[in-house]
Amino acid sequence: MNKTAFHVHTYRCGHAENIPDEAYVKKAVELGAEHIWFTDHAPFLDNPFGARMQYSQLKEYIQTLCALKKKYSEINIHIGLETEYFPSYDKMGYYQQLRSIPELEMLLLGQHMAEISDNPPGYSFSLDAEQLCRKEYQLLGNAIIQGIKTGYFNAVAHPDRIFRRCTGWNDEMKKLSSEIISTAVSVHIPLEMNLASFENSRYYRREFWQLVPEKAERIVGLDAHSLYELESRYTRQM
Ligand SMILES: [Zn+2]
Ligand SMILES: [Zn+2]
Repeated sequence: MNKTAFHVHTYRCGHAENIPDEAYVKKAVELGAEHIWFTDHAPFLDNPFGARMQYSQLKEYIQTLCALKKKYSEINIHIGLETEYFPSYDKMGYYQQLRSIPELEMLLLGQHMAEISDNPPGYSFSLDAEQLCRKEYQLLGNAIIQGIKTGYFNAVAHPDRIFRRCTGWNDEMKKLSSEIISTAVSVHIPLEMNLASFENSRYYRREFWQLVPEKAERIVGLDAHSLYELESRYTRQM
């Protein structure tokens, strides 16, 4: 039985239920979980992207979770962040700085968009619909591979979600999947089987998971943005 509630977001990202972090902890305890991993969307300096906490909230996020750790001895509370890999931010020391925060146990690589040019940095969300359809998966997949190789990340969130805009399945997609999988295997980090993706036919790719060998590490993630998602997905994974 899996007694870990992995991949939980908080109100700070702006697209999760507006409740205190403690409500997730209480619910996880009620469900009998032994571990809860908070991995809210990480902020970037100067807040250039939406759908994540503000940079100024990072300290408070960690302090709040640290206080909850002290308060709840019946469950292990873990502090992490979910974030993309962007080479420009790597050059600026962003990931190293996150890794130097002692309370932070996990950087989860969730590649929702990719950097497509530097100086000034451009991102995949500025591409038009046709370009996104044609090559978004390659941009995201290659960023994931690059990100894994840096050694900053402890797990890869929803790797199969890179194919969200692809209707079919072809050799190129297969080759990229195999490369993501083998890169993760080579550095012994798990690939996340994301339960939110299971609820969305565009996000879950059976063909990807069929390529994942027995020896690869896997982790089940709830990607919970609400108490309802925490409960329903936790119950589902058991
Ligand atoms: Zn989110
Ligand atoms: Zn997430």
